[in-house]
Amino acid sequence: MHSRSELSGNPGGAPGACLHGGARGVDDTPAMVRRHDLTVALSGLRGDVVFDAPLEAVTSLRIGGPADALVTPADVRDVCRIVRQARTAHVPVMVLGGTNLLVKDGGVRGVVLILSNLVAMTREEDARVFAEAGVRMPVLMGFAAHHALSGLEWAAGIPGTVGGAVVMNAGTRLGEMRHCLEAVRMVNPQGQVRTHAAADLAFAYRHVSLPDGVVVGAWLQLARASRSHIEASARSYLQYRKHSQPLSQPNAGSVFKNPPQTTAGRLIEEAGLKGARVGDAQVSTRHANFLVNLGRARASDMLQLIANIQRAVFRRTGMMLELEWKVVGEGDDVDPHPHGTR
Ligand SMILES: Cc1cc2nc3c(=O)[nH]c(=O)nc-3n(C[C@H](O)[C@H](O)[C@H](O)COP(=O)(O)OP(=O)(O)OC[C@H]3O[C@@H](n4cnc5c(N)ncnc54)[C@H](O)[C@@H]3O)c2cc1C
Repeated sequence: MHSRSELSGNPGGAPGACLHGGARGVDDTPAMVRRHDLTVALSGLRGDVVFDAPLEAVTSLRIGGPADALVTPADVRDVCRIVRQARTAHVPVMVLGGTNLLVKDGGVRGVVLILSNLVAMTREEDARVFAEAGVRMPVLMGFAAHHALSGLEWAAGIPGTVGGAVVMNAGTRLGEMRHCLEAVRMVNPQGQVRTHAAADLAFAYRHVSLPDGVVVGAWLQLARASRSHIEASARSYLQYRKHSQPLSQPNAGSVFKNPPQTTAGRLIEEAGLKGARVGDAQVSTRHANFLVNLGRARASDMLQLIANIQRAVFRRTGMMLELEWKVVGEGDDVDPHPHGTR
């Protein structure tokens, strides 16, 4: 969806996964979604719906305008129904876990899905685990450790959902989702459940070439190991995060992807921007690749701060930092290269 949702002028400002009305490469997200169309899209829904729901309540940054409809499907069948009906009614659908994205102040048109009812986990044969997409990564890690299954320790401290971790190919310097992902279960835009083998997908840094659709589950191939060893590795990584990241302040993880050979944090720090602010949006004084919300930051403050950082780093190094965050929704964009500063 290269649309209003994308941060203008930023080659890395990848949009959020979105179905219908927001198809990739087409700027056709409706400026307004009629309530009648929403009603058609949501008819027969067994889960919960809140209209005009402020998304600041469900994002780790505590920022975001309202979704036309914030929907918590009851189960995968509900997801299929909504996706199918929304397609017929030309209503855009996106999924939100909420920990790696910035929702703009104008909010999100159409349906925003929260998969918090999709939380089943099963241990299968040969150290394989199936997890539904709404399972939080820390919960999955606990499940794996409980069953003495190793392979997810790299994810200690990543707060998002399994679905978000698949879509983002979440990772750290110790490992990435692709290292244990065996297959992905998705609901396609026609509302059908399909399984995709990881071997058929192309993975890159914080990216995977998934077809359009909603991730509803994932199979992970883990390995048997001692539970105490698994727990000790995860604990030591969590400890490292506590010291190096601003975990007590609202944030959404790393803002920018690390360029080859260096880190975004180092470039931002060398540009003298630790602690820099726009309104209540601040470059963390603890880790320069984290932006924190000091209280009342708006998405526009965050976007201005992002543009300021990109401009300062570009001037110093000639490198344009690429966003890792997904920027979604409606609202003003900011040009990181205002006239005359390129
Ligand atoms: C304190 C902190 C530390 C973090 N550390 C790391 C880290 O070390 N490594 C790392 O990689 N990330 C890190 N993150 C970022 C984040 O937790 C991960 O990227 C996570 O995988 C995102 O999951 P989410 O469920 O929150 O997805 P979101 O951030 O909500 O979504 C990310 C994208 O995926 C799409 N999406 C989400 N779920 C689905 C689904 N089920 N189907 C289709 N599309 C979907 C969304 O629409 C969006 O485009 C950190 C975040 C925080 C707050």
